[in-house]
Amino acid sequence: MNPTFPDQLWINGQPRREASGGRIEIIEPATEELLATVPAAGPREVDEAVAGAAEAFRSSGWAVPSPKRRGEVLREIAQRIRAQSEELATLEARNVGKPIDDARWEINAGARCFDYYAQLASQPSGETIPVANGGLDYTLRVPVGVVAAIVPWNFPFLMAAWKVGPALAAGCSVVLKPASLTPLTALALGKIAHEAGIPAGVFSVIAGRGDQIGDHLVSHAQVRKIAFTGETVTGARILRLAADDIKRVSLELGGKSPNVIFADADIEAAAAAAPSAVFGNTGQDCCARSRIFVERPVYSKFLEAFVEATKKQVIGDPLDAKTQIGPLVSAKQRGRTEQYVEYAKEEGGRIVYGGTRPTEKGYYLTPAIVDGLPNSSRVCREEIFGPLACVIPFEGEQQAIALANDTIYGLSGSLWTRDVERALRVGRAMECGVLSVNTNSSVFQEAPFGGFKQSGIGRDLGVEAFRQYTELKNIFIRVPGWES
Ligand code: NDP
Repeated sequence: MNPTFPDQLWINGQPRREASGGRIEIIEPATEELLATVPAAGPREVDEAVAGAAEAFRSSGWAVPSPKRRGEVLREIAQRIRAQSEELATLEARNVGKPIDDARWEINAGARCFDYYAQLASQPSGETIPVANGGLDYTLRVPVGVVAAIVPWNFPFLMAAWKVGPALAAGCSVVLKPASLTPLTALALGKIAHEAGIPAGVFSVIAGRGDQIGDHLVSHAQVRKIAFTGETVTGARILRLAADDIKRVSLELGGKSPNVIFADADIEAAAAAAPSAVFGNTGQDCCARSRIFVERPVYSKFLEAFVEATKKQVIGDPLDAKTQIGPLVSAKQRGRTEQYVEYAKEEGGRIVYGGTRPTEKGYYLTPAIVDGLPNSSRVCREEIFGPLACVIPFEGEQQAIALANDTIYGLSGSLWTRDVERALRVGRAMECGVLSVNTNSSVFQEAPFGGFKQSGIGRDLGVEAFRQYTELKNIFIRVPGWES
């Protein structure tokens, strides 16, 4: 399929082919060639989009109590995403370098996300509260206002859907800023939402460079909430800027997730699942289980099976349906990963497999497996965001918990054991927002997703995310005769 490359921003219901920030050039990771260019928003377009969003919040009728219209438009967006899913998946695969099957799954998961929040818009919310005296007390959830949604390059469309879906369902107006490396499917979403009947100003999409418009967008007086996914350093900066006028903030940040494998686990299953858990999306995944802790008696058996399973992963053209691992998103991201392969060697680690370039063209890197490094090493402490896994032995439950938790992050984790009581004990003790037992899948649109510690604040997905785009208001009505 030959997709049409979106080349327009969407501001207040209007397409924009030109913008004050110049143009962004998009390089295709698999070929290292120019894929497309898009207009780059500058502060002027940020002001226009935010002012339009604030006006739409006040007067478009989107934020009014009736959820019917919001549900209809969100369902229409979902339907249109499905109708264009092959084109969107191709755009995502070529822009990010991700395997086409993964891209297809993500686009369809994005559509499901809009459907899920369409129905949540009309679910009961709020409660009546028996209070001491004289009337009716109840709570209302009202939309928070203008939301700036800022998303990264690793799952561009899905992260956009995770933020835009619940925010629109709650009645907010949204200004979406995709990452400069990967704006294409977000711009396509702007057009889809427009065609689905979203009122002008309720949803704008402004591609633009974070270092040029990020601070301006985040500190804009009319933005009431920032929903961000990206690096912890950027998240901390956003939090500081948001403090000035007490903006609501939800942050989904980095991770260094543990994959804990006990000796009583199904080792074949754990080893077979481990490559996709850490090398999926070429390791550019905040949930990547990049620290693999294995109980000593089964360490060698696991390592051998893990290496064999990794060797079978098909590295190749993202558009080939057989491909499981594509290139990294950019030369910079591959260079960063290679730098960590060097750190691993310097720190005394053994590169058991990978860490080399398999092709001349494209930002490819063979997944690297390292053993012999302690959890205190730089490679085990810092988020790499590339295909590098460390395997570390442990002895007993207490050490497993201590090692898993010995990190500044706390996003996700896995635990493999056949002992249910141990799963309950260790599962509770592991400091992470999302944990999976005897599998590495833990992300569902109905369930909350987010991190402990420096992995973030707040949650995406589920009812929890929907609530985070609302303010909670308590109302008391005096009712004569209700006095106790
Ligand atoms: P960045 O933090 O660099 O960028 C994320 C987004 O923020 C981009 O749109 C970027 O724009 C924008 N941005 C950059 N600077 C600013 C600023 N000063 N103010 C406002 N926005 C800004 O992260 P990456 O793009 O490198 O994404 C990878 C990171 O995302 C990883 O660290 C990963 O852990 C994290 N992540 C977390 C997830 C989670 O749910 N916890 C999920 C997925 C990724 P631009 O691209 O133009 O610079």
